[in-house]
Amino acid sequence: MPSFRAPRGTYDILPDEQPYWSFALKTAAETAKRFGYGRIDTPMFEPTDLFERGVGDATDIVQKEMYTFEDHGGDSLTLRPEGTAGVCRAYIEHGLHNQPQPVRMHYIGPYFRYERPQAGRFRQLRQFGVEAIGDGSPNVDVEVIELGWSYIRSLNINGTSLRINSIGDSECRPAYLDALREYYRGHIDEVCDDDRQRFESAPLRLLDCKRTQCQGIGDAAPKSTDFLCDACDAHWASVIALLDGLKDTYPDLDYSIDHRLVRGLDYYTRTVFEIEPENAAGQSTLLGGGRYDGLIEEIGGPPTPGIGFALGLDRIISEVKSREGFVPPESGPDVVIVHLGDEAGLRASALAAGLRDDGLGVLVAPVGRSMRAQMRYSNSMNARYALIIGDREIESAEGALRPLRDNGEQEAVALNVQALAKALRGD
Ligand SMILES: [Zn+2]
Ligand SMILES: [Zn+2]
Repeated sequence: MPSFRAPRGTYDILPDEQPYWSFALKTAAETAKRFGYGRIDTPMFEPTDLFERGVGDATDIVQKEMYTFEDHGGDSLTLRPEGTAGVCRAYIEHGLHNQPQPVRMHYIGPYFRYERPQAGRFRQLRQFGVEAIGDGSPNVDVEVIELGWSYIRSLNINGTSLRINSIGDSECRPAYLDALREYYRGHIDEVCDDDRQRFESAPLRLLDCKRTQCQGIGDAAPKSTDFLCDACDAHWASVIALLDGLKDTYPDLDYSIDHRLVRGLDYYTRTVFEIEPENAAGQSTLLGGGRYDGLIEEIGGPPTPGIGFALGLDRIISEVKSREGFVPPESGPDVVIVHLGDEAGLRASALAAGLRDDGLGVLVAPVGRSMRAQMRYSNSMNARYALIIGDREIESAEGALRPLRDNGEQEAVALNVQALAKALRGD
């Protein structure tokens, strides 16, 4: 066993895996661009307070999952467990409310949570997320959902479904929470221990408890949509109407209203949504988000509405890999130079430099091996061509260029960068 391994809950992305990542990241950037969401990068750590106030003291993230440390100056800092709080902090700090609203932003990067180790849960996770800040209209809710849906479709992940709910706002939620507490008080002996402990402080969380014993109780619980105030109710009706309008473009945009969908973070208001993979039955999520109209004010800014989603790229990559129809692009070099003898070795090195400078992908086969071993190496590198240089080729000043991926004919090409580049490019 090696002395060092990647820390639990983290993983390496080796070169062979990178084409999947490039595909997912490139598609994310392109999708964000189509919707006008500019890129934002925020620091990987922030003051601990930001998450305590922004994400919420009572959440699992803040209570159990944060990587918090004191730096040498005595400040308490935390590796960001999620993206929204940092983006909102930046929105306030840089006065982005002075720009045309909403400010549309996307981010891609690593986030850190001390998760219990289990399949598909990582302690360093990678997310793609978007935020639209400064516009409270339902149109923006649906724009953000459309963006998420469009992204997943662009990755050829089909069969997904959308679940959506409205959890109201500070106006109407207190009455709903009272009704929930009341309801759960009557079922307190039937729910799990976790729920018994949190039903006073975080009654919403009982609704999305995944334990079998809590399912029937959650299904029969009061629905937040029955408690919405007039403003929240009008917003909710518009979201649904706008969502129906997306069906011309996405006939399979099959949404269901799920009153048990509440999301785990305190900052959500009104619309919350999740997109889940095929056959997930509420047990796994590709993307989740919602509106957070109180968050900016909570962390010290002016009252400002916002909405966004985040999506786990780790999860997305495994979906992409499990689908047919996505083949990572060929990643081998254009040519491996096979060389026999000292003189050929010198020429190989010089030609490789020239061809690389010309924009081609070139490897020089390892020194001191037989021709046969070097050819095997060229094939294992998935090169398009092998260029063979031995004593005879040095003498004639022409190398043998042999195609490796198809059955083309070997040809003799002058041993200079210009002729070789032309032949390798096939023009
Ligand atoms: Zn439970
Ligand atoms: Zn309301």
